[in-house]
Amino acid sequence: MNIILIGPPGVGKGTQAKNIIKRYQVPHISTGEILRENIKKQTKLGIHAKTFMDMGKLVPDYDVLGMVSRRLADDDCFHGFVFDGFPRTIPQADGLSKLLSNTDKRLDRVIVLKASDEIIIKRLSSRRSCNNCGRIYNLLFNSPKNDNKCDVCGEELTQREDDKPETIKKRLDIYRLQTEPLINYYEKLDLTVFINGESDINNISEEIFQILDEID
Ligand code: AMP
Repeated sequence: MNIILIGPPGVGKGTQAKNIIKRYQVPHISTGEILRENIKKQTKLGIHAKTFMDMGKLVPDYDVLGMVSRRLADDDCFHGFVFDGFPRTIPQADGLSKLLSNTDKRLDRVIVLKASDEIIIKRLSSRRSCNNCGRIYNLLFNSPKNDNKCDVCGEELTQREDDKPETIKKRLDIYRLQTEPLINYYEKLDLTVFINGESDINNISEEIFQILDEID
């Protein structure tokens, strides 16, 4: 099962990807998460990527494609993957298509999650995460039990640098300009399905499962 999740930042791609991988046992590939891991480990890629990420800009296609190519070569991707936050530009989509054709693979579905800017801004500015264990919370609908402390490890929760209001607006602009054209790109290949990302998390998952259950 080879799936892409497309949608603006904060629409719930990560949450839905986690539900999909639980049910279908394919790896979740979030380029944002891989980049944040690289930043944490202070790798060359991480140090380079951080300058773009902190400003809400996209990391260059060349770096992202290199990273994805290495990840796709891992054994756990043999039976499929769920991409979350990749591809984000037409050159990345072209690059992915080459990577897949080299290994005789093809995409099964591109799931497009839609939500208004108003909802996105509200959700992103309420997102908090634990730097220690990586657990993500949202003060609107999934808040920690103790004020600003992680339920799992007790660490202080922080707001991602790129979830600060001034950066959110920039990320949304970049999404509309550079990533949204991918919807048309994949529509032409008859791969897209559209889901209302503003509805309840479990309803969205159910809708996605119905679509994915039909893939043979
Ligand atoms: P995300 O966790 O998907 O919201 O990504 C956080 C940030 O990582 C983005 O705002 C970009 O700076 C960077 N990033 C993640 N995925 C990509 C990608 N496919 N192409 C370029 N930059 C990316």
